[in-house]
Parts: sequence; structure tokens; C-alpha cells
Amino acid sequence: MGFHQIEPLANGCAKAYQFSRVRKIKKYEAFLNPHLAIGSLLHAGRAQWLYDKRTGDNWKTQIILHADKLEKEGEKLPPQAVSKAVSNFEGYRKFWLNPHRPRSTVLAVEYAYEPRGFSPEATAAGGPFLRTSRLDSIERWSGGVWIGEAKSTYAGGAARVKDMYELHPQIMLQISLWGETERTKFGPLAGVLLDPMVKEGTKKGEEIEATGADRIPVSLDKIDYALRWFKRDLFRWIDAARQITWNSDVERRNLCRTCEFKPLCSKGRDGSAGFVFSNGLPIAAWKPSKGKETPPWE
Ligand code: SF4
Repeated sequence: MGFHQIEPLANGCAKAYQFSRVRKIKKYEAFLNPHLAIGSLLHAGRAQWLYDKRTGDNWKTQIILHADKLEKEGEKLPPQAVSKAVSNFEGYRKFWLNPHRPRSTVLAVEYAYEPRGFSPEATAAGGPFLRTSRLDSIERWSGGVWIGEAKSTYAGGAARVKDMYELHPQIMLQISLWGETERTKFGPLAGVLLDPMVKEGTKKGEEIEATGADRIPVSLDKIDYALRWFKRDLFRWIDAARQITWNSDVERRNLCRTCEFKPLCSKGRDGSAGFVFSNGLPIAAWKPSKGKETPPWE
């Protein structure tokens, strides 16, 4: 389990965690969110292109294969997701094919951490406190070894990637999990190297082409302090999450402005139209069963 599993709780609302991760409720969408769909395809293309040492066209095939995989897993990709991902990747690739641009040396792509503790306390506790993560890449850059983390962003949005991800728990978890295996194989970690993949679009009425952007280093010495509280608090978040069951009466937090569960918290059962369980069944058709006696919208 990575950070995503407890994200709503870490973001502040235990009720959103219960709805989404314990009761597995989501809003019915005819298609996968276009931002997520294209981001996922871009990541697949990037992994292949870096694996091929930034040569060839295998990345296109990889985007198509990844789209097929998502569809087989039950995701419905929005129309033209593949062609949009290809044209966006072309822009990213063009940026990095500039011979004057300093490039990293890629040491690994799609590197998976096996389950492990993110701190001595988590390792000792074991079970749900052990975490996994998948690194987009591991790269040598500017004399150090870095975790490469691709972030797709909207047209003209490269500058916001640093603000958004510098202290992002996903990044801090990836750093915290770097262990003896990786130190032996790749060396000591310098930090995370954010890699903006800037999508095409319009800004102030102007058409903007897809592109890449200079890498953004988040070095360990800059977030050393933050890593200390993060490891302590991640332990607390996981501990709180494991105590929440389907029937638990958990507190709500007023973080509702952009929350997808707002109709449920506003109207209860009357707000349940349009919500489904992860198996696609509408939550309005719910029937109680052992351990799931509380109505899902409560
Ligand atoms: S609408 Fe507000 S209280 Fe309800 S789950 Fe979302 S953030 Fe929590």
C-alpha cells in the first residue's frame, strides 16, 4: 500500500477516507477523469522512452498497450485519450531532444519498493505500517542519485509543480522508503527530481503546445525538517485509518468545498444518486450485511 490509500485521511477528513477507501464509494463517471487518464498514459510513454535511452518510438506502442491494459482493468478512457497522450508526449520529447539541455542518466524505470517501514517505529510495528511505492525512475544527475518523479500539468503550469509537490506526502514517502537495498544498488539518495510534463492547451486565449520543463530538484537537505514530522505523522494517520470500519461513526471535517462527497454529507440518502461502489453498483441499492449495517451514505 502506498500513500494514496490513506490520502483522504491525511488530507484532513476521516469521513472522506471512510467513504472512499473503506466503503469504496465513488462518483459515477462515464469516463476516467481526462487528467488522470492522460497523465497515466504519459507516465507509461515516459518509462519506455527513458528505458530506451531517449531513442526510438517504442513509447508510442507503450502508450497504446497501457491504454489497452487500463480498459481491460475496467477503466473507460475518455475519447481521444491515446492521441492526446501521443501529441503531448511528442512535445515533452521535443523539449528533451534539444542537445544543449543537460540530461540525467537513467539508472532504472518503474522501480518498485517491496513493503517496508518508513521509519524504525513503522518497521517494528509491521503489518499495515509497511508501505510500498513505485518510482517513475531513478536517475544520476548533477553528481547525485535522484528519484525521478514525472508530473503532468496543464498548459503553462510547470511553475506550480514545485509548489504542489515539494512537500507532497507521496514524495516524502518515496524518500523515506529509500533503504539499504537501494543504497547498495544505486548509492545514497540526493532527493527527488520533479519532471514536469506540460500538456497542450490554451492560456489567456492563446494556443500553447505541449512541452517539458527544466527538472526541479527537491534535495534531502531542504526537506530534512519536514521528513521528521512526516514520518511521525504518517504513523499516526495509518494508526487512525486502521481503526475506521464500515460501521464506525467518524468525524467530518469542514473541507467540503471541492469534495466529491458533498452531496452525501449535505443530504444523506437523498444525495446518493450518482454514487456507486467500486463494483459499479449504485449505493442507493445497498442492502445491509454482516459488518456493513450502517447505510453507506450515513
Ligand atoms: S463533504 Fe466535507 S465532511 Fe463530507 S466527506 Fe467531504 S470533506 Fe468530509
